[in-house]
Amino acid sequence: MSDCLFCKIVAKEVPAEVVYETDRALAFRDINPQAPTHVLVIPKEHHADAAALARADQGLADAVLLAAHAVAEQEGVADGGYRVVLNTGPGAGQTVFHVHAHVLGGRPLTWPPG
Ligand code: 5GP
Ligand code: ZN
Repeated sequence: MSDCLFCKIVAKEVPAEVVYETDRALAFRDINPQAPTHVLVIPKEHHADAAALARADQGLADAVLLAAHAVAEQEGVADGGYRVVLNTGPGAGQTVFHVHAHVLGGRPLTWPPG
């Protein structure tokens, strides 16, 4: 999608600090980190939200989740615990409508979230 910020990051038209990449997924640091580790993991293909990702072709949601865990391991937060968040819809705080998993870790994460 030509007007999508995260598609532009995939296309390298907008710079980002990429930390992990596969053929189907891209992971880059959030511009406004909420924890010592705050990485966004996206499918390279445009899907608006988690519901669209779930309906996407076989294996794409797996590719995003596998990449999220790989990022957690790479960042050294996998053993201590980390959170994977898919804000879905405006009421949940989704502001960029290219599905992205937030990978958060490196500090105690309280529950329930805000
Ligand atoms: P949402 O609110 O949709 O769940 O998450 C969007 C996230 O994208 C936010 O955490 C925000 O800080 C991040 N973000 C917005 N614009 C950019 C950008 O241009 N580059 C990067 N790396 N992150 C961004
Ligand atoms: Zn997009």
